[in-house]
Amino acid sequence: MKGVFVVGAGPAGIFAARQIAQAGYEVFLFNRDIKPGGLAEYGIYPTKDKMKFGLRKQFANVLEMPNVHYFGHVQVGKAYNVTIEELEAMRPAAMVFACGAQASGKLGLPGEDAKGVYAAKDFVYHYNLLPPYAEMDFSTGKRAAIIGMGNVAIDIAHWLLEDSPYRQQLEEVVVLARRGPMEAKFDEKEIQYVDEHIARDALTAELERVKERCARCNQDVSPEKLFEEHFRRLKNPAFGSVPPRLTFRFLTSPTAILKDEHGRIARIEVAENDLVLREDGSTKAVATKERAIIEADTLVFAIGDKQDPNIGLPMGPHGYAVEPGPETTEKPHFQLWNPETDKPLAGRFVVGWARRASTGLVGIARHDGELGAAEAIEFLKNAPESNTLNEAEILAQLEKKGLRPVTKADLALLARVEQREAATRHLSAFKFADNDAMFKAIAEEREQAELAKA
Ligand SMILES: Cc1cc2nc3c(=O)[nH]c(=O)nc-3n(C[C@H](O)[C@H](O)[C@H](O)COP(=O)(O)OP(=O)(O)OC[C@H]3O[C@@H](n4cnc5c(N)ncnc54)[C@H](O)[C@@H]3O)c2cc1C
Repeated sequence: MKGVFVVGAGPAGIFAARQIAQAGYEVFLFNRDIKPGGLAEYGIYPTKDKMKFGLRKQFANVLEMPNVHYFGHVQVGKAYNVTIEELEAMRPAAMVFACGAQASGKLGLPGEDAKGVYAAKDFVYHYNLLPPYAEMDFSTGKRAAIIGMGNVAIDIAHWLLEDSPYRQQLEEVVVLARRGPMEAKFDEKEIQYVDEHIARDALTAELERVKERCARCNQDVSPEKLFEEHFRRLKNPAFGSVPPRLTFRFLTSPTAILKDEHGRIARIEVAENDLVLREDGSTKAVATKERAIIEADTLVFAIGDKQDPNIGLPMGPHGYAVEPGPETTEKPHFQLWNPETDKPLAGRFVVGWARRASTGLVGIARHDGELGAAEAIEFLKNAPESNTLNEAEILAQLEKKGLRPVTKADLALLARVEQREAATRHLSAFKFADNDAMFKAIAEEREQAELAKA
């Protein structure tokens, strides 16, 4: 049997698995989390029900394919449950790494270890109830700062302003952006979730404060233009901001985090930036010597994620090492590479955010998974028979290591319990926030099913 191991069951891994299974190969998914879905389950905003239900259904359809096998709660890596070498001993004919970008970029600032300073991914994992983040302390206070001006930053503002359990004590969320308002990266649809909180007077004053620096890059940041382009709701003269306030501070780069006597963030020292025009017409922020202090008891940094170096894959300049040379949209580089020998890691591929961190929506990760899968299938056509272990043998090997893999049958039992819980609690969906509760639910449901059969 030529079996293919896919590491990671987020959108990229699941859609790669589907394609490879459709080509007739046995596919074995190894996933860190008990449940599949990755950031589609544990990143996308909790109230985007329609999108989440749709994606869950698609993932379930893939897992229902008889030649797709699933081992959840198995983290692959030299620092984790099972190493790549141990997987290789199970004789996969090819391996596709779709493990996302799990290492949060660090700010690299003094005081970064203060309580109340959170990486965006950890924060969204927390409010999306991914164990163990779900149970960790992500408390927030009166004034929260968010670094970043993309959709993830806006999702976090949305959570803080509208849905967080700490919302009652929140007075202000301030978004800190390295560059100016014209460089905002969020989509219009996303800002609409929070724009009723924008303090118009504060935004107008902030635009006034940075207008000269932006004008040096030929940017008009007048309120009329900005409200038209980014903050349409503010065009309405009758607009009145709903508390808590949402404010922005542009041309600002944090330089240090200052703690209070309890070790929690109390203030952020920031550099004022100049905006500089590059030759290609893009802009860049350049820190000046001027400093300012921003009061904040919470800081969430949404500056993009990085590939996890603890998996054990060779690292290159932009994440895992892939085939060198220029890459085009027609020919992305999925082939993993050994930089020491300057040779391909034959039959080893990388897709999705594991290949390009923090890029785009689910549809893009899916497409990347499918293109990478096509390359893996080409390789498999000429690959020798590998006699990959079957599902029972792999399960036995994992259990011998003391692991507790979750199979497709377990996932079906868990889904039944969660659906019942949702109905009892009158919720559109329910999910357990810790692994033990999930294991208990699976065991009890299995017992019930066996009793009913007897
Ligand atoms: C806050 C946030 C909000 C978003 N909102 C939207 C949205 O509204 N709409 C939209 O279309 N897109 C949204 N996205 C983007 C979307 O979630 C991603 O494009 C997509 O999930 C990336 O897919 P992936 O499979 O490459 O990685 P991931 O989704 O990160 O999946 C990686 C998988 O690998 C597993 N894994 C990790 N490490 C290991 C390991 N060592 N061993 C085994 N398994 C491992 C994880 O358990 C996970 O299942 C959002 C992203 C974020 C961060």
